[in-house]
Amino acid sequence: MDQTALAATVAACEALIDTRYPDDSHHGAAAMLLKNGTILTGTAPDAFNPSVEVCHEIEPYCGAYRLDQRIIASVCLHREPGGRTIVLSPCGVCRERLAVHGPDVLVAVADREDPTIVVWKPLKDVHPTIG
Ligand SMILES: [Zn+2]
Repeated sequence: MDQTALAATVAACEALIDTRYPDDSHHGAAAMLLKNGTILTGTAPDAFNPSVEVCHEIEPYCGAYRLDQRIIASVCLHREPGGRTIVLSPCGVCRERLAVHGPDVLVAVADREDPTIVVWKPLKDVHPTIG
């Protein structure tokens, strides 16, 4: 895997959080690396009823479909007040969504010792029924 492209995907996610949310409150975003090298980013709008909110991954996920591109890697980050940014593992629904892109899609999970460090794992290692 192209480590430079993976690092650029994480950087794009961090950049979206910083530019979209210049305040110092809780915010997150996602970024996905596509087969053609494109990096798509996205973030989730707030809703009055939290039960209708969507995952940060939805925008890049739908963008990949619109562009007819395979997803190679996906990262989701959350910036806490004070600036610490932690890795959010994909939720179960996002894992199901990513499964259509194959068992080798890389997903970012948090390092066991330091949640600010991205660890890339193939989807098949974090999905109960594929791989
Ligand atoms: Zn999700």
